Amino acid sequence: MFTPSAPRHWWSSRRERGDTTQAVQDAVRLLRAQGCPVCAERDEARARWFGYFVAESHSDEAVRAEVHAALGLCPGHYRWLLADGSASWLLPQVQEGVLAAGVRTLDARGAVARCPCCVGGDRAAGRTLHTLLAAYPDARVSTVLEGGVLCAPHLRDLLGLPGGELAAALVDPWLSAVDEWPVDLLVGTDPDGAARAAYVPILDALFASEDDRAPTLARWEGDTARACCPVCLARERANRRLLHWEARAEEGTGPRDAEVELCRRHLHDLARTRTPGARTVVDRLQDRAREQWRRFRTRQERGNRVEALGHLEAPVCRGCREERSAEDRYLALLAAVLLDPGRAAAHARSHGLCLRHVLRAGETLPVEAAGCVRTWLKLTRWEVTETLRKQEWHARHEEAGEETTAAFRSTTHLDGRIGCGLPRAQQPGADDDIPTEREEPG
Ligand SMILES: [Zn+2]
Ligand SMILES: [Zn+2]
Ligand SMILES: [Zn+2]
Ligand SMILES: [Zn+2]
Repeated sequence: MFTPSAPRHWWSSRRERGDTTQAVQDAVRLLRAQGCPVCAERDEARARWFGYFVAESHSDEAVRAEVHAALGLCPGHYRWLLADGSASWLLPQVQEGVLAAGVRTLDARGAVARCPCCVGGDRAAGRTLHTLLAAYPDARVSTVLEGGVLCAPHLRDLLGLPGGELAAALVDPWLSAVDEWPVDLLVGTDPDGAARAAYVPILDALFASEDDRAPTLARWEGDTARACCPVCLARERANRRLLHWEARAEEGTGPRDAEVELCRRHLHDLARTRTPGARTVVDRLQDRAREQWRRFRTRQERGNRVEALGHLEAPVCRGCREERSAEDRYLALLAAVLLDPGRAAAHARSHGLCLRHVLRAGETLPVEAAGCVRTWLKLTRWEVTETLRKQEWHARHEEAGEETTAAFRSTTHLDGRIGCGLPRAQQPGADDDIPTEREEPG
């Protein structure tokens, strides 16, 4: 068996000794968390970033620049904002800058940065892993880690750090300590899962009402009549179909091994169905993970660390592949349909594609599709600016109108994934899209 041997310089200098003492103290504190301490720190850092954004940093120039570079937040964190009590006054402020950044990005075909809230969480996870590794030789830390608290992806991350081979002795006790693998342990925690679950009954009712055997153009016309991105809707349709199939699958008749590979988001969505099919998938993933870790251990014992870590690579998620394929197919359909001038005109008057999908399609999409999103981004931004103007004290003699909901509606033009592909009016909580109180003069 592989036995970790600390390099001679591990405790050598006083400075390192001081750093390690601090790391042990920090690690002991981190290990008080429920479940995986790395997931806990990541999720807490994201919640802290979001709380501070709502309370204060939304007006900080540096933070605003990060939010604009990312064209807002990721779908999950936009859902936090939409559901937050601050949405009525904060969302218009956020969207005013984000929609302008969206038009600039569209014109320049520029790159989009990652959600700053997610980035903050990932940094916290990275710091936690380094702290745990630095403190690992201390028995107060190694004993807890060997008890199986880390989730499988974070144990893999820990072992992949420079010097991570020091913690390889964890794997054996970790494997024996973990009897039953709950989903949180298999793929990590998913704080957005409950918010996504609220969209599921609405999506399922919508898709159940559709006639899959209707002619292609009739289905395209149906999508065009809706106030949402048709590509995002097609993506959700594919997503729900796959998860329904996997949830209903009986032992032996369901998905084959390669088809049960699901990422964190998809596995949590499936597990929430609490069906026998979902249990079967989780069991099979658990067996596969055990096997992966056994192979890792064998390779590691033979001294081939890179190859050993290769055995722990997460396979491509079947759900993510289905989504991507549905997006590609719908974009190809659109490229064909828009060759017809009458249908191109109908598309131009519709909600059209969200910015994310126009950017993703790039040059493959007819210019009419991009023109449609540019119009909507500019129009909703005008309405958002109007909302903010009417909130000012000097405009108190003016009535607030439909423009007050523009900040909420604009999210479907920016990235349809925020509302799981649904028109804003059909999303959970859309009834609360209300204007803000007028500001009293300071
Ligand atoms: Zn974790
Ligand atoms: Zn995010
Ligand atoms: Zn879209
Ligand atoms: Zn996935």
